[in-house]
Amino acid sequence: MALKDIDLSELKTAALDAAAKVGEATRDTVEKLKRRDILTAPFMVEMIRTATNMYGHGWDERNGGNISLMLSEDEVAPYLDLSAVLRELPTGFDAPALDGKYFLVTGTGKYFKNVQYAPEVNLGLIRVTDSGRTAQLLWGYTDGGKFTSELPAHLMSHAARLTVDPENRVVMHCHPGNLLAMTYVHTLDEKAFTRTLWQMCTECIVVFPEGVNVLPWMLCGTNAIGEATAEKMRTARLTVWAQHGIYGAGRDLDETFGLIETAEKAAEIYMKIAHLPLVNTITDEDMWQLCDRFSLTPRAGYLAPREN
Ligand SMILES: [Zn+2]
Repeated sequence: MALKDIDLSELKTAALDAAAKVGEATRDTVEKLKRRDILTAPFMVEMIRTATNMYGHGWDERNGGNISLMLSEDEVAPYLDLSAVLRELPTGFDAPALDGKYFLVTGTGKYFKNVQYAPEVNLGLIRVTDSGRTAQLLWGYTDGGKFTSELPAHLMSHAARLTVDPENRVVMHCHPGNLLAMTYVHTLDEKAFTRTLWQMCTECIVVFPEGVNVLPWMLCGTNAIGEATAEKMRTARLTVWAQHGIYGAGRDLDETFGLIETAEKAAEIYMKIAHLPLVNTITDEDMWQLCDRFSLTPRAGYLAPREN
């Protein structure tokens, strides 16, 4: 074929198409290269450390316990393509207040002890859409798994906490042994339960001046226990599930872990002394002094009125 027979316009079009495709691929590659490794994200590192620490405390045997951490789009965007939805998972409930919110959540049936070794299998990052009815998976659950069966209790608790504290980011559930034991031998009356914990360590009223709420035994994993927990979360960051464990909420993983840790320490002291004659205690007047010292307001009606 002679050079004069070649259709230059077709060639030009083909060349431009090819150049455009290369440009697109380059842009994609640049975007991917700019994206950082999510396993290095501060929220991921903290989540893995927290799950590991909770397992180390003996609060999360087998697949016990679950954590959800709310994240902003700005926190997630440097690590993930937010338009790449891997799977859509129905949540089974409505939570319109959480539409568009991102959560890093432990997986159902997953063991806390394994989170540090395979975070991408045991954790998932979801975006809530469709008035809370759908969770879009953006990262994780790589073995085909899904979020914790307690997601209703978590998301409903997030929604409830956000109405009283717009800074709330964490909901955490686990099975600390002494708190659990205490629900077998102590009345479940919330005021009495709170007062006992406050009396067990001086720091308790300082760490949770709003007290702890208590739910009687209920079937877990249901919307009913989710709704009941969320209702309790409106007035306290800690809710004990009798004969099961505890729910905690807070502004970050440290605060929430620390809340549960403090309540569990108090329950441990109680379980050590409950069968012994009580000789000394922290009086209500002592606790009023603590409230003054740390500028706290204890749960209304939980302490005897001040003497002066
Ligand atoms: Zn549980």
